Amino acid sequence: MEDGKPVWAPHPTDGFQLGMIVDIGADALTIEPLSQRGKTFLAPMSQVFPAEDDVNKHVDDNCSLMYLNEATLLNNVRVRYNKDHIYTYVANILIAVNPYYDIPKLYGPEAIKSYQGKSLGTLPPHVYAIADKAYRDMKVLKMSQSIIVSGESGAGKTENTKFVLSGQDIDERIVEANPLLEAFGNAKTVRNNNSSRFGKFVEIHFNDKNAVVGGFVSHYLLEKSRICMQSNDERNYHIFYRLCAGASEDIKKKLHLDSPDSFRYLNRGCTRYFASKDSDKQIMQNRKSPEVTSRSVPDVRGHEEDRVVAGVLHLGNIDFEETGSSSGGCVLKNQSGQTLEYCADLLGLDQDDLRVSLTTRVMLTTAGGAKGTVIKVPLKVEQANNARDALAKAVYSRLFDHVVKRVNQCFPFETSSNFIGVLDIAGFEYFEHNSFEQFCINYCNEKLQQFFNERILKEEQELYQREGLGVNEVHYVDNQDCIDLVEAKLVGVLDILDEENRLPQPSDQHFALAVHSKHKDHFRLTVPRKSKLTIHRNLRDDEGFIIRHFAGAVCYETKNNDALHMSLESLVCESKDKFVRELFENSNTTKDSKQKAGKLSFISVGNKFKTQLNLLLEKLRSTGSSFIRCVKPNLKMVSHQFEGALILSQLQCSGMVSVLDLMQGGFPSRAPFHELYNMYKQYMPDKLTRLNPRLFCKALFKALGLNDNDFKFGLTRVFFRPGKFAEFDQIMKSDP
Ligand code: ADP
Ligand code: MG
Repeated sequence: MEDGKPVWAPHPTDGFQLGMIVDIGADALTIEPLSQRGKTFLAPMSQVFPAEDDVNKHVDDNCSLMYLNEATLLNNVRVRYNKDHIYTYVANILIAVNPYYDIPKLYGPEAIKSYQGKSLGTLPPHVYAIADKAYRDMKVLKMSQSIIVSGESGAGKTENTKFVLSGQDIDERIVEANPLLEAFGNAKTVRNNNSSRFGKFVEIHFNDKNAVVGGFVSHYLLEKSRICMQSNDERNYHIFYRLCAGASEDIKKKLHLDSPDSFRYLNRGCTRYFASKDSDKQIMQNRKSPEVTSRSVPDVRGHEEDRVVAGVLHLGNIDFEETGSSSGGCVLKNQSGQTLEYCADLLGLDQDDLRVSLTTRVMLTTAGGAKGTVIKVPLKVEQANNARDALAKAVYSRLFDHVVKRVNQCFPFETSSNFIGVLDIAGFEYFEHNSFEQFCINYCNEKLQQFFNERILKEEQELYQREGLGVNEVHYVDNQDCIDLVEAKLVGVLDILDEENRLPQPSDQHFALAVHSKHKDHFRLTVPRKSKLTIHRNLRDDEGFIIRHFAGAVCYETKNNDALHMSLESLVCESKDKFVRELFENSNTTKDSKQKAGKLSFISVGNKFKTQLNLLLEKLRSTGSSFIRCVKPNLKMVSHQFEGALILSQLQCSGMVSVLDLMQGGFPSRAPFHELYNMYKQYMPDKLTRLNPRLFCKALFKALGLNDNDFKFGLTRVFFRPGKFAEFDQIMKSDP
């Protein structure tokens, strides 16, 4: 940074602002903003960055800027967004800003066609270019490909995933499966009116002639808390409202449906219909399942799903009250009798069994060292409420598993040569209260971040090799320590949780303390008490723990009410209804495990996810990969509003800023010979300009006496060390 040249300095809402350095202190700079001459402020040295000469210029690939830093990245993305260029590359990574309106002609068959067969960078950045690259790489390299789409809720992951899929020449059924998945797995939230509350990996499979043979969807982490409870202005899964609004009179009667306001699982959130193209009612009435559209078979199974959805709604309406007797248990409230009947009927359960299982818990006594006897312990009202909700969550999430399975049956295939997989999964997140659900999402993001680092690092190195640079070292911060903290054998949080659940009396407090005691001085883990984050101040050390993730510190609460008592689980496993019984097939409750009556069956939710995630990562590692980083421009979900600070923090969380750092460790600025030739020939004597561009550059660098460590000549371009391209440019322009 030099005297008299503008710099980017921090700004509370815009992210960065242009200013001049007026004084240099020990570790802070005094900055005078360009917009407010005469006023100055202090900024930490590490947060002030050199600006490009022309801040209104934008480039398709951020790497072709002179200065590669978070401020110039943000500015480039901003200038482009203002011109409706929502896509930007950073090398091969695509940044996609959600425009929140339909940009004319950006998508569609014509646009798809124009990107076909073109290498990345020949046309303006686009999600279609990434899709086409994956297809071409698969063809040429005979290797499966994956596209990893990430970003926070509302950033446009699911829309971009659809664009990627529509860019492939794929079967309609794969596209038509989406509405079904979204009906059961999407909900209105404050961040996104149609938010996917599950992660998915969609594979399109191809034969050896590169024609589509089928598809497969894997799903991850359906948000379960939403089934029983929603925040203000949020809704439960779409299907609940659609069923209430759009089912035929006949079905409504059979399922005893009423307005959403009459169901506990719906009426505490927002039951109102929200803005979208069609109403809940219309969507339901137009509902077609993929089998129906593609094979003209009657949609019988849709009705079974509807029945279970209704069963869950009625289950939620069961209320408990204290018995008032000395045993301290609870009973169903009088008016819940009818509800119990509906619920039992719809789920194929025996009314009395359901009543007993909801209000008592089966335990093994181990008194006298004898083989335990089974006793029934009465539950308090609050415990019975938790048991009811745990059952609802278990039934609905099993139903969702079934819906995905059904979707997968629509495009079966026997063999395939390769696939293109698209991963659409929630980004790093934290709220005021963070539970096991956030813990799993953030753990998943640590793993994906590690994969991202591995790949980007590798790609950089491969480029250096291709260009014959002969450099191998690119450094970055590894997050393996954080991953180990979660998944290491015995000492990882997941194993500690399993260990806790093997105890006769597992408790949230004991679990939290066990985590702390196993990791006393771990860099990544602290107790809530020590946290400077004010929102966590009221949490005791036995109520949670804080993990320092790559994207920020998050405090997790260990309280967990999701435990499904064994007696309830065996009840649904043995439902008289075949459909319900099948939902719970291969659950933990086999005949022998029932001996462990009283044990909680959520034991391995975490470890099950760990296995799933490791399988996914293994798959990703075996493919060629592309990354799409989606960005949400504002919280209001409106078009043409760029909130710089908000966007900057997403670029940081998605690891884009560390990519820049990573590139800074190598040779981040690169310029093709012919570009340098065109830029500087005017300053050079004729004799030089007659050389070919590569020799021209060599001669030029020699004449200027540039330091050999600052740049490298590749086969097609020059690579510069951070900031050196700019220095060189400066010399050229000031030194004729
Ligand atoms: P996410 O999956 O990341 O939570 P979505 O993909 O559901 O976010 O996008 C949220 C909303 O933003 C969409 O419903 C749509 O209205 C809008 N949106 C996202 N991407 C685009 C786009 N490329 N063009 C127009 N609107 C978009
Ligand atoms: Mg989504």
